[in-house]
Amino acid sequence: MTAHPIEVGPKDARYDALRRGFNQRWIADPAYVVVATSADDVVKAVGKFVADPANSQRRITVRSGGHCYENFVSSANVGVIIDVSQMNRVYYDPEMSAYCIEAGATNWHSTTQLYRSTGLALPGGSCYSVGLGGHVSGGGYGLLSRYFGLTVDYLHAVEVVTVADSRTPKKTVARKDSADEALRTSRRT
Ligand SMILES: Cc1cc2nc3c(=O)[nH]c(=O)nc-3n(C[C@H](O)[C@H](O)[C@H](O)COP(=O)(O)OP(=O)(O)OC[C@H]3O[C@@H](n4cnc5c(N)ncnc54)[C@H](O)[C@@H]3O)c2cc1C
Repeated sequence: MTAHPIEVGPKDARYDALRRGFNQRWIADPAYVVVATSADDVVKAVGKFVADPANSQRRITVRSGGHCYENFVSSANVGVIIDVSQMNRVYYDPEMSAYCIEAGATNWHSTTQLYRSTGLALPGGSCYSVGLGGHVSGGGYGLLSRYFGLTVDYLHAVEVVTVADSRTPKKTVARKDSADEALRTSRRT
């Protein structure tokens, strides 16, 4: 049985593929790459990273689709990469009354799964393998955007992992209709 979260270190055959993204110019030397399959995996990975004093000068980064042109994910000072590409489900969340597209889902997943099963579509970019984690947080612009706006305009809620006191990671759900302004995904201006 596989231990969770999955950690891929330098001796693992997968390491060389997982320490780089789409832009082959940037190749990191992390201690290991976490292949997260749930938000709880991310909490554990972040907790382990911040608990290790050896990481004080190194960054923890997250990758969804790996399409970053820059070295935001794979740079020289990266200690651990959290890869969430396995979190790629698309489903209806009755509690939110909204569709959930997990961060590791790509434009391909959102189009083929969301549209075919519901008739709905996001105005996402035309590159099929861009991940929603980076795409939505960057705005997201595609063929439907002149009419329907950016991908991020359709963001209702996000589940994020933060570190409150430099050592304790926690999951928080921020949503557009939260009564608490600090937990709203969009602020009134
Ligand atoms: C070939 C190509 C075509 C493209 N076409 C388009 C297009 O048509 N329209 C458009 O708008 N953009 C386009 N882009 C740009 C693309 O939307 C951005 O590069 C986007 O940030 C990539 O997201 P990713 O998850 O694939 O990349 P990643 O490399 O995984 O992540 C990009 C950034 O987002 C952060 N990030 C990723 N996942 C998460 C997460 N779960 N939580 C928090 N932060 C996260 C990363 O740390 C990094 O800083 C294109 C890029 C490429 C390479």
